[in-house]
Amino acid sequence: MEKRYNEEGFLIVRENHCCEHYEPDARALVPMRECWCCKWSRFSNENNEFTKESIGVCSYSGNSVETTTVS
Ligand code: SF4
Repeated sequence: MEKRYNEEGFLIVRENHCCEHYEPDARALVPMRECWCCKWSRFSNENNEFTKESIGVCSYSGNSVETTTVS
């Protein structure tokens, strides 16, 4: 799957995606090995361009790209 990044440089992920940097979220009752249950994921429709519930971003720095800020 082609990797996509948001404007902040964070990797865009689906809830059932997973990678080698997975770490279980302490809030998950039965953590599955997928982004939805990973402590690095952010799934929220608040204040971003994503409208589908199953699309989120990965905040793990090793999965992000540097973005250039134009001033
Ligand atoms: S949220 Fe990021 S670190 Fe966690 S499994 Fe998904 S891609 Fe990997």
